[in-house]
Amino acid sequence: VIQICLPLNALGFLFREARDALTNAEKLRQMLALRPEIEESARATPLTVTRGEVIFEHVDFSYEPGRQVLWDVSFRIGPGQTVAVVGGSGSGKSTLARLLLRTYDPQRGRVLIDDCDISMVTLESLRAAVGVVPQDSTLFNESVAYNIAYGRPGASMVEIIEAAKAAQIDELIASLPQHFDTLVGERGLKLSGGEKQRIAIARAFLKNAPIMLLDEATSALDTRSEKAIQTQLDRLAAHRTTLVIAHRLSTIVDADHILVLDKGRIVEQGGHEELLSRRGLYAQLWDLQLQKQEFDRLERKLVRQP
Ligand code: ATP
Repeated sequence: VIQICLPLNALGFLFREARDALTNAEKLRQMLALRPEIEESARATPLTVTRGEVIFEHVDFSYEPGRQVLWDVSFRIGPGQTVAVVGGSGSGKSTLARLLLRTYDPQRGRVLIDDCDISMVTLESLRAAVGVVPQDSTLFNESVAYNIAYGRPGASMVEIIEAAKAAQIDELIASLPQHFDTLVGERGLKLSGGEKQRIAIARAFLKNAPIMLLDEATSALDTRSEKAIQTQLDRLAAHRTTLVIAHRLSTIVDADHILVLDKGRIVEQGGHEELLSRRGLYAQLWDLQLQKQEFDRLERKLVRQP
């Protein structure tokens, strides 16, 4: 009865509020990579990261029965090292990231952090230990400060400002109408893909987790933005154990170790030069990346021309 009596514009308002609340709840779920199916073991203990070593040990995984997407995947990321994963679309790169965050559990094999099977640690401690910079950063319909502090609820304004500086987004924020209080997201100021990613980087700096998961953007940024973002990602990865789903040539070359995935299997691994000289799948992917980079450069040049 109350609903029927409400004026139509109030109903519209309620609908929009409900829709935004749902959008935010959905974003929260995506950002935390939460799935109700993943359960914490009754004997789970908090994870304490000491060295920050990550090991995938004979991991098999399928999202659905009868369609395996990872086959006997084993690799190690030494403390403070950066491992880059390359491979064609659908080869299983993001799935590795999801297993490290325990969005899913492998059907066979284990994922270990500092010798601890991550299926035996509390989800909260695992997700506190891993910082994520996703490819497509979603922002809440909240202030810039809130969006950065999301990396560590309860952070002080001084810490938020420091994180913004580390991500080199402080100048941009200073140019916004209400600085850190400026509302962003769908209902606020629209930010470009690169700007959104820098907010995600600031968030990750603030979180200061010992392990980093970076999913590089595939979309073409202009060369200056790409260089700036690359520098910040490098700083984020420095001294932290990092798994990067790599699309940029510079990241791949600089990684300590490269994994080449093909249809869910590691088919080649090693350093950049070593892999290039094998003239196998890595060399092919590398040539494709070079061509794509050249294509993007020409495309941007054409767009800029009147
Ligand atoms: P891209 O570079 O295109 O993002 P990727 O290498 O990250 O690809 P994944 O996202 O890990 O690939 O996907 C690996 C395989 O698992 C693909 O065949 C994909 O279709 C499948 N897959 C991914 N997510 C799901 C899901 N939620 N349910 C079922 N199958 C999925």
